[in-house]
Amino acid sequence: MAVYSRRTRSLDFLDSVDPHPAEQLGEGLCQPPGDQPPCELEAEGPFFSLCLCVSPLLGGVHVAAAPVLDPDAECSKDVILVGSSEPSSSPAPGPQRDQIAYEVRVNQRAIEDVCLCCGSLQVHTQHPLFAGGMCAPCKNKFLDCLFLYDDDGYQSYCSICCSGETLLICENPDCTRCYCFECVDVLVGPGTSERVHATSNWVCFLCLPSSRDGLLQRRRKWWERLKAFYDQEADSPLEMHATVPAWKREPVRVLSLFGKIGNELMSLGFLETVSGLGNLRHLSDVTDVVRRNVEEWGPFDLVYGSTPRLGQTCNRPPGWFVYQFHRILQYAKPRLCSPRPFFWMFVDNLVLTKDDHTAATRFLETDPVTIQEFCGRTVRNAVHVWSNIPAVRSRHSALLPQDEASLRAPDRQRARSSIPGPTGLVKNCFLPLKEYFKFFSTELTSSL
Ligand SMILES: [Zn+2]
Ligand SMILES: [Zn+2]
Ligand SMILES: [Zn+2]
Repeated sequence: MAVYSRRTRSLDFLDSVDPHPAEQLGEGLCQPPGDQPPCELEAEGPFFSLCLCVSPLLGGVHVAAAPVLDPDAECSKDVILVGSSEPSSSPAPGPQRDQIAYEVRVNQRAIEDVCLCCGSLQVHTQHPLFAGGMCAPCKNKFLDCLFLYDDDGYQSYCSICCSGETLLICENPDCTRCYCFECVDVLVGPGTSERVHATSNWVCFLCLPSSRDGLLQRRRKWWERLKAFYDQEADSPLEMHATVPAWKREPVRVLSLFGKIGNELMSLGFLETVSGLGNLRHLSDVTDVVRRNVEEWGPFDLVYGSTPRLGQTCNRPPGWFVYQFHRILQYAKPRLCSPRPFFWMFVDNLVLTKDDHTAATRFLETDPVTIQEFCGRTVRNAVHVWSNIPAVRSRHSALLPQDEASLRAPDRQRARSSIPGPTGLVKNCFLPLKEYFKFFSTELTSSL
């Protein structure tokens, strides 16, 4: 049985979605920790602690189901709450998690009245995937974390509590979900995590044919509940599409404009091939493309576009790429009433003027995020990204004006032409699409 130990995350992740990041970007925050190899977006330092954090409030050992700031603990990831719109807070005091079973079985409390994630009795909403309640702090964490993926393509957090240091991986090849030991032991039964650990080809609670295991009961049509949950609870409801159950997923059909993204999508397993009759159509010039063309070539599930790289010779003004992308996007979008998941991403390789940037935000009706790559303390590359893909915001970090100016400087442009293309920066933003589209074996594709 594959067990997945949590990895440390680079600190460019730390300040994500901060509304005033520049104030905090002073010493140390935008640099990788000293023991990290330089020049990597995310460090690969696995650690194997179970991260038991002692909670003085509860007077006992309590596996951290919520962020606990403990400088001595190795749970660096647990303190990184991304995109939280409210200050991070501990779950409301309530029974410890291991009392959930007692509350339900002995005290006859409905499981919908207990937070499945932390055991709190101050339930704010219902868990979208499994029968049970959810308190407000756990709801915030869930909203922020559920669509986060690690580089290996598995979800970063437990699908029940959105925490967890050591995670059990579902071995259904169509599934990317993970479950923490604690959730499995508390909700299914003591010792379950060890049994699962010893099992080969374990299939998770959302993939199993039976919908109930101990206290853990999968909700009917959980993918629709998940969309309703995001629509209702997220602060700025993105047009969230209902995720697609594995057996209904089809390969993604991609239209890429100007910049190419085929190799990245292939290495992630979304495309079998980047050429020939695959599901990718690339256009470097769209001047003569009209609605009829796009409708004939489509339908498309993902429209990607990018500006040229800085320093790349181009006879178009930068704004042209924004306007053309927006025009083609309108042709490719499904009709308003269509429930079909549809995603798009536009990437500016720092060539847009301030006015173009503002226009892009207005036309694309969403705020951009900045994704950077560091080399030591220096920003090596950065892009601005507009997208409706879930969790793109979580990869955001603020780019200091002086860093942006430095990246735009002509001598840096020349230096940057030798480093890997900016598409590498956005590659992992596509991972949440695994909830919507079929993916092919990455072992196969990465060896090509
Ligand atoms: Zn909770
Ligand atoms: Zn969990
Ligand atoms: Zn699964």
